[in-house]
Amino acid sequence: MELEDIGYNSELENYRKDKNLDAFQVGRVTSEHKERYIVKTADKEYDSEIIGNLRYTANDRTDFPAVGDWVAFSEFNEGKALIHAVLPRKTVIERQAVGRKGEKQIIATNIDFAFIVQAVDRDFNINRIERYLTICHSSNVIPIIILNKIDLINEAYLRDLVEEIQARIKNVTIFKLSSETGEGLEKIKGSIKKGKSYCLLGSSGVGKSTLSNLLTHKQAMKTSTISTSTNKGRHTTSHRELLILENGGVIIDNPGIREVGITDTSGGIETTFDTINTIAEGCKFKNCTHTSEKACAVISAVERGEIDASLYDNYLRMEREKEHFEATVAEKRKKGKHLKKIIKDMKSHHSKYKY
Ligand code: GDP
Ligand code: ZN
Repeated sequence: MELEDIGYNSELENYRKDKNLDAFQVGRVTSEHKERYIVKTADKEYDSEIIGNLRYTANDRTDFPAVGDWVAFSEFNEGKALIHAVLPRKTVIERQAVGRKGEKQIIATNIDFAFIVQAVDRDFNINRIERYLTICHSSNVIPIIILNKIDLINEAYLRDLVEEIQARIKNVTIFKLSSETGEGLEKIKGSIKKGKSYCLLGSSGVGKSTLSNLLTHKQAMKTSTISTSTNKGRHTTSHRELLILENGGVIIDNPGIREVGITDTSGGIETTFDTINTIAEGCKFKNCTHTSEKACAVISAVERGEIDASLYDNYLRMEREKEHFEATVAEKRKKGKHLKKIIKDMKSHHSKYKY
């Protein structure tokens, strides 16, 4: 195996040379647990930590290595390494950090494609697909929809479901799959590109681990035991992992992202809600919020049935979340500045007496 098989490319190599990182090795972070990182090279894995300098110069958590990152490191002991630098990220999938309002948390980096897995049974929810699409679009990751558990519904219902999705979501590949019977699996495998990185997005229970096992032939971690033993289940899904696929390419098997918050998605919402935005060009006011304005082209289109009412609802909900997130960030920044000023004042106050 070569580094290129797990996604290394000339851009990264050029950066390494430019920054005089020649003295270091490069590898990819395959898992992270409490500031310990497993870094993979072509033939080895290293148990790694970051050097102090990297910690002290970090602005926030997002400057720390994340799963999917390429890092420059040095081995200081057999199998033990120190990470000196994180190479530039091509893509970042992030969400609002759980329990820390206004902070972002990186789910994975340097991902090319995301499989958005949805089960077609009673959990099916098209709004949720749009949520994940928004995340993909805002991070330049190409989304691919996988409708899993098709063994649980009949063909006619599946056809309706696909039509319903296609009516709302354009230009996204949809695969139909049963991880149980294997139907549709070969098509998905055949679509996987060598040297590209994939990740699995979707709520808990939709079948991500099962699919990941099928793609990687990693049968050691039987999913059936996961659902019966809570303790074990929690454990196996608490680590993010980067796994090598049999046709080349890698997959990042993420734990279920139950509540995906919308961060400032810079364009993500616009791409997902293409139809709405095209129609919005006809609104009278440029800064129309499409909620209550007179002469709002979007509201009229909803009333005429040209925009699906549930699509419109989902759009408004995500816009509200985005605004809320941005407001929280602005508030935090203000607080941070205020604190810096106090510290500065204190310092100058002290220096008056010292000298
Ligand atoms: P995850 O939480 O997204 O990783 O979901 P799992 O892979 O753990 O799957 C959750 C449950 O759904 C398990 O009991 C699987 O056996 C089951 N499952 C996964 N794929 C399918 C499928 O295609 N059909 C059916 N009937 N069950 C499936
Ligand atoms: Zn409007």
